[in-house]
Formats: sequence, C-alpha cells, structure tokens
Amino acid sequence: VNGPDVESRIDAAIDSVVPRLRRLVADTEVVPELGFFEYQTSELARECLEELGFSVASGVARTGLVAEVNGSGAGPRIAIMAELDALPAGEGPAPARHMCGHNLQLAILVGVAAAVRAIADRLDGAVRLLVVPAEEMVDIDARLELREQGSIEFLSGKAEFARLGQLDGLSAVLMAHSTTRVEEGDFAVGGTMNGLVSKRVRYLGRSSHAGAAPEHGINALDAALQGLAAINAMRATFRDADRTRVHSIISEGGAAVNVITADVLVEVQVRGATVSAIEDASQAVDRALASGALSVGARVEIDTVAGYLPLVQDASLIEMASRVGSRVLGEGAVRPGVDRGGSTDLGDLSALLPVLQVWTGGVTGELHRSTFALSDFDRAVVAPARVLARSAWELLRDGAALAREVRSRHVARFTIDEYVRYLRREFARKAFDGSAALDWVVGPAAAARPDHSAHPGHP
Ligand SMILES: [Zn+2]
Ligand SMILES: [Zn+2]
Repeated sequence: VNGPDVESRIDAAIDSVVPRLRRLVADTEVVPELGFFEYQTSELARECLEELGFSVASGVARTGLVAEVNGSGAGPRIAIMAELDALPAGEGPAPARHMCGHNLQLAILVGVAAAVRAIADRLDGAVRLLVVPAEEMVDIDARLELREQGSIEFLSGKAEFARLGQLDGLSAVLMAHSTTRVEEGDFAVGGTMNGLVSKRVRYLGRSSHAGAAPEHGINALDAALQGLAAINAMRATFRDADRTRVHSIISEGGAAVNVITADVLVEVQVRGATVSAIEDASQAVDRALASGALSVGARVEIDTVAGYLPLVQDASLIEMASRVGSRVLGEGAVRPGVDRGGSTDLGDLSALLPVLQVWTGGVTGELHRSTFALSDFDRAVVAPARVLARSAWELLRDGAALAREVRSRHVARFTIDEYVRYLRREFARKAFDGSAALDWVVGPAAAARPDHSAHPGHP
C-alpha cells in the first residue's frame, strides 16, 4: 500500500464524519464554558470519540479527555491536541462565548481521530488524542480557589496535563488554531507567540466615611490608580523586539461611593517575547505597583502566578506541515505565520517537546471579540483535520523515521519534571507596606541655593 492510497483513506474517513463534526461544533457553540469547568463541552466531545469506537479516559485535569490509537509497531508516540474552553463574554446573559474557536479544534480532533483510526495498520507508532481544558488565562480567582481545594495545582490545562504525566514519552504535539489575520489567509504555519506572567494584586487601605471622616481612611483605590499610572509611565522604555505588553483590569474597586475603599483587586498580565524580557518587565511592574501603595501609605500584596512561556515551534514540524498543507490546500495556499503578542500554554509545551500549531482560516471577525464567527466549515475544520491527520501519517510512516528525527533534534528547555518544579517556584507572593518608615538617606541641608555659576550656559 503506498502513500497516495493512505491519503485517500484519510480523506474518506474524514469525509464520512463531516456531518457529525458539524453537529459537534453546533452543539458546543451553545454551551460555552470557562476553563476547568467545561463539563458539557467535554461530554459532547467524549460522545463523538466513543461513537468512533474509542475508549476515552475522562476527567483528566477535571474536564480533559485522553484516547489513543495504537499503530502496528511499538514506535514513537505523538499527540494531537484540542482545547475546550471559551472566554468570558463580558456583557449579556451568557457568561461565556467561543471567541477563540476552541470548539472548532474539538471537531478537528475528532476528524483526525477518525482518520488515524482508519490507517492504524499503517502507523509505526501511536497517536494520543488529548482534549485539554483551560487554555485562556482568565477567571484566575476561580482557579486559585480550585488550587486551594486541591482540585488543580497549576492554572492552565496543559500545565496540569504535564504534571499528571499525560505528556510523558511524546515525540511531538500537533494542533490547529483559528486565525483571523488577513495576511495568514486560510492556512499558515510557523510564527512565535509571547510568554506571560499573571498577577493578582490586592491593595489594602483603611475604610472610613468618605464625607465625614476621610482623614481616617487610606484609599486603596487611589493607591491602585497610582500604581497603574506608574506602569503607564514605563511603557516608553519597552524595547520593540521584546514585544512587551502590560495590561490590567480593576476587578474589585470598592463597594460604596461614600466609603473610602479599603480593599481593591487588580489583575495584571505581563507579556514578552523571551523569558528574560518577561522577568525584567515583571520586576519593573512590581516596583510600579509598590509606588502606588507608597503614595498613600497602603499595603500591596502581589501574587505572581505561573503564566505561559513563549511559543517557539519546531522547525522540522513547520517544514513538514508546510509540505502537507500545500498538498491539501494547494500550492500557494500556505502562508508564513506571524509573530504574535498574545500567549498560549502551548508555549510551555514548546519548552518541553517539539510542538506545532497551524493557523487556519474559515472564520471572520476578530479573535477574543464577539465579532468572531465561523464562516467556512471546510476551511475551518475539514482542511486542518486533513492536514493534521496526514501529518500524523508523515511522522509515523516508514518506521516513524520523521517522528524519531524530530524528537532527537529538539533541544528542550526543561524536562517535564524540571518544568513542574519551575511552575511550583513561580507561585510567589510579594508584599509591600507603603506605610512603613522610609529608608531615607539623610544629610545636612544645602546652606544656600546651589550655585550655577560654575556651569555657564546652564539656564
Ligand atoms: Zn484565545
Ligand atoms: Zn485560543
């Protein structure tokens, strides 16, 4: 049996499930759920995989799913991954909405599952199907609560999958993600993404009657506003090449306008293209936040929680996906992926394993906005399913030579154990008491106005 025959078996298997994939997208679209709470979404994806004959492990990292296709030989294992979560909707009655296309990924994964199952006899290795919760770094308070309850340890689904051993022994991780960037067209490969750290910042002051006794209060909201203004003052110092981004919201800004606010919660994300850029900006942000506390004598507590590492995709996988993409979508349809200011927890995995995230069109509007919508099912789901399934075949055919090569060439930043230890170190709380005595350098006052005559020409 030769390559073209395997490719037609892949295409036929995907074609046969297209109506089911359409139904999965429609069904998940109306039950959008936030990370680690994607119960209905997970259940809908599980049903699909079970209908295809898979035995599926569920409840992995709360809502994740794992299934596997074993090939003919005991070769390398690669993974196809899809994400479950939606985003907070902001306004309207629905608390969440699929504005990042993750439910399209679920349909892609089911399509790939059908295809690799159909060619299992030709695979010299295994394909692990990973359906992963909580990609978006949102809803931090709820996640910290889950962490406190011991239900999760880390705040993202992929970090939890790493901790739980679900990524052990993988030679590559492949996934697809929607793009709405015009320059990426219907299909793009490559490009980097920023890493980030998240901060939960609590300003603590003292409440008092805002009209009758303002002198007894310490205004935590003013402290927060000063801290955010100080962050804004640093922006001009960011280097373009670092793609540093700092953004924040005030999640809790006070309860009553006639009471001096004693407790304010601010959430901040700090992004950058490299780990050192993120660390530099993170320390500068902490200092700026402390200056807000200092300005009014409040206290600030900064919980910096492990965010995402920058995404660096594997060059051999990019090359392979570009070749496969041309075969599926036609010569000239494959565009280079752009370097993005956004972040993903796939970045973390890229520090551990060879990873690939192809960018696929068939959607309109903008990611993370309510304008985001599916426009072309074939482009958004069917084509990427074909690309990923054929990629699995490319990696695992002929003694899985390519999978072995990709794995052996990859230079990991961390082993999975090292990464888990790194994340544990990342959860740190800093506190700064702005009411404490300042460490002034005190000396004699100047006797008179400084004499500028020594510097003629100085105004
Ligand atoms: Zn997103
Ligand atoms: Zn996304």
